[in-house]
Amino acid sequence: MLPQHQPDRRIWLDGALVPWAEATVHVLSHSHARGSMVFDFMSVHETPRGAAIFRLPDHVDRFLTSVRLVGLPLRMGAEELASACKEAVRANPGAKVVKLQAFLPSIEIDVVPVDDHVAVAVAAFDPRADVLEKKQGPVPAVPKAVKIWLEKERKQRRPDIMHPHAKVAANYTSPMAAKWAARKRGYDEVLLVDEHGFVAEGPTTNFFLVDQGGVLRTPPDESVLLGVTRRSILALAEHAKIPFVEEPISIGALSGAAEAFLTGTTAGVWPIASVDDQALGGECPGPISRTLGQQFREVTAGKEPAFASWLHYVDE
Ligand code: PMP
Repeated sequence: MLPQHQPDRRIWLDGALVPWAEATVHVLSHSHARGSMVFDFMSVHETPRGAAIFRLPDHVDRFLTSVRLVGLPLRMGAEELASACKEAVRANPGAKVVKLQAFLPSIEIDVVPVDDHVAVAVAAFDPRADVLEKKQGPVPAVPKAVKIWLEKERKQRRPDIMHPHAKVAANYTSPMAAKWAARKRGYDEVLLVDEHGFVAEGPTTNFFLVDQGGVLRTPPDESVLLGVTRRSILALAEHAKIPFVEEPISIGALSGAAEAFLTGTTAGVWPIASVDDQALGGECPGPISRTLGQQFREVTAGKEPAFASWLHYVDE
């Protein structure tokens, strides 16, 4: 059961801050029944200037892309969405993340809704303290380096069905099945492949490897969600003069990698120890993963002036 009672938390719902327990949808709602809920997920950082949302406008842009790809007739624009996110963070001190959602709350029979009102919800909270610890007590430490299982059978990242650029609930059901199977086999995480059999991404992370020549490689735009962390890591690599390319990565290239890591809003830079039980490269994390991970943490903490514009303060 989810913790239904969070006396201190309020959720922004269609313009009003409602108590956490009241932010619910009906079991027959379109979003629940069809997986049509579009969302985005951002990190919040405490800084000397107060709470800041990391790359808020970029997340809102990606959210609007998902809304367009799914075809939801959302009537709110980027500025209103960004200010709703800031208001939700101000109303929920100590929040570590913001989840922005657009959904069809109406009870519908057909796949195309009769009532097309798109509701917007913004939840700002602390996933560990507000949800995980309340549900399961102490939360086990996240492994420092991840053991990966490669899902080779099902080509999950295909632009000809719902595009990987759409962050919509339904797009997470295949990765969920793959990750669940990987967990049962003793792996931490799963890597998905694209329609041509190239490595694509994790269920909620992007993928990078460092080849033996020290070049950072990540799959191209078409087959992955355009991760905000991915884009940030590429900018940090450029700043640090680490050469990088965005191009298809074959499964065979994994065994020759010097380093590999996953990136995401929750994961940050997450080193990969092995793929299908085969250890990757030498030391883990390798030097480039360590450098980029450290720089990313400094940027999000507001300690790196060159990237100060990536933090959006909620009180300013
Ligand atoms: N790929 C997928 C499919 C995701 O869901 C996420 C998480 N949003 C990512 C990659 C990483 O994106 P970001 O760095 O913006 O969190």
